[in-house]
Amino acid sequence: MSTKIRIGSHVSTRGGFSGAARTSDRIGGKAFQYFPKNPRSLHIKMPDLKDAMACAAYCREQDIVSIAHTPYPVNMAAGLARGESHYRLTVESLMNDLVIAEACGSLGIVVHFGHLNNEDVLLGYQNIIRCMNDVLSSWTGQAKLLIENQAGDHGIMGITLEELVKVRELADYPEKIGFCLDTCHLFAAGQWNVHDTHSLLQKGKDLGYWEHLMAVHLNDSKYGAGSKKDRHARIGQGMIGTKALQELVLSPELAGIPFVLESEKGADGTHREDIAEVLSWS
Ligand SMILES: [Zn+2]
Repeated sequence: MSTKIRIGSHVSTRGGFSGAARTSDRIGGKAFQYFPKNPRSLHIKMPDLKDAMACAAYCREQDIVSIAHTPYPVNMAAGLARGESHYRLTVESLMNDLVIAEACGSLGIVVHFGHLNNEDVLLGYQNIIRCMNDVLSSWTGQAKLLIENQAGDHGIMGITLEELVKVRELADYPEKIGFCLDTCHLFAAGQWNVHDTHSLLQKGKDLGYWEHLMAVHLNDSKYGAGSKKDRHARIGQGMIGTKALQELVLSPELAGIPFVLESEKGADGTHREDIAEVLSWS
């Protein structure tokens, strides 16, 4: 008995949110990720609600699910390190992303765990929890804040499943928080022995991680295990290898989870080929 794999890729919003959904559909993607606003800035965006609702309607009709990726300057662990107004802007930006994701009918907004330069990890965890509390205290929508594990390229924070589970548990509104697992980051951080995927599955089960997993960034890695390098590779073209990725994708723990490719596009300028490849695994 095989369940259908739900796979897609990160797509451009050049044609609006509804255009992104149609692009995903055109290349065979039943799941996609998009930037709700300019990924390089925290500037608040007034979304085109008509377009967002058209996206939600199209996804409902075509059985497509989506996730939004928050801008790169968001760093929940930074706290007040860059001043009170920068912190406020971070919180408002995340609230803005939630509103847009909700309007688009998305599962949630993906947020990197975050990091503190001086490696004061306990303060970092505190900052993350406070930031999530401030963002979520007034949030009543369905879209969730999805914390993503990191490769370790910015320091030691946020690379283990334990940390993700713990900050969620310690937050005031854990029910509004889920996880997004990046396979490249997990591998590069030395957290996935690809010759023993069973141990990873067991660990996630013991920690209660899988039950709150809502999306996977399905990327291979250009660099080796423990390299701490965040360099995504296409499926079958990296150091993780197809076999281990297959094991993870087909595991019962991840059944029904949307997989999103964040790797280089194929010769046709889309992820069509890689999507078809992953679909052929089931
Ligand atoms: Zn990712």
